[in-house]
Amino acid sequence: MARRCFLSPSSATLCTMSKSSRVAAPRLEKKTTVTEDSVRKKNVASRPEAKSEPLPATPEDAVSTQDDDAWMHQALLAAQKAEAAGDVPVGCVLVNDSGLVSVGFNVREAAADPTGHAEMIALREASRKLARWRLSDCTAYVTLEPCFMCAGALVHARIKRVVFAAADPKTGAAGSLANVLQDPRLNHRCEITSGVLALEAGEQLRRFFRAKRAARS
Ligand SMILES: [Zn+2]
Repeated sequence: MARRCFLSPSSATLCTMSKSSRVAAPRLEKKTTVTEDSVRKKNVASRPEAKSEPLPATPEDAVSTQDDDAWMHQALLAAQKAEAAGDVPVGCVLVNDSGLVSVGFNVREAAADPTGHAEMIALREASRKLARWRLSDCTAYVTLEPCFMCAGALVHARIKRVVFAAADPKTGAAGSLANVLQDPRLNHRCEITSGVLALEAGEQLRRFFRAKRAARS
C-alpha cells in the first residue's frame, strides 16, 4: 500500500536500547500471525461454560503485509544507529494510519539506562508526540522479540499490533519464554506477527557480536 508516508529516521527523534544479554543466537522462524481473537477463541474453547459466548469479529488488520517489510526495514535502519553507538542493534518504529509516529533504538550503553530499550524509547516518543499514553491505533515494528519489560509497556500502551523480526529464546516475552502480549489475564492483548525480515535482523545481530568478539581477541 502506498498510502503511508515514509519519513527518514533522521526526521524523528531517535533513541535506543540495549539487549546484549538477551540476544544470543536469535531464532529465525517462519512468519506467523496470532490475533487477539484467535487467543480469545482458544481461551473460550477451554472454558466449557463459555462456549456459547458470542465471539467478537476478528480485528481488521490496519497494516498490510506489504507494509510490514517496509516498516521493519525502517526499524533495521534504526538498529544500525544503535550499533554505531556501540549498543546492541535493536530498533523499533511505531506506525499508525497517518504513517511513522516514532523511532527508537537501543541506548542502554549510550545512555547508561537499563530501560533504554528500543521499544521503550519509541513508546515515550510516540506518547510525547501524540500527547496521550493510549496508543491503541499504533503498530510496533521491532527487530527483536520484546523482553518482559517492553512487552509489559506495549500492553500498558494498548498497542494494537506488534510485529517483530528475530525471536529471542533467552528473554523473549512474545512467545519464547512467555507471551505477555497476549496473556488473557491482562486487560489488553496485542496482535502478534513474527518473523518479518528475521534473516536480516538475525544477521545484523550476529555481525555485531562477531565484531565484538573479534575486538576482544
Ligand atoms: Zn525490552
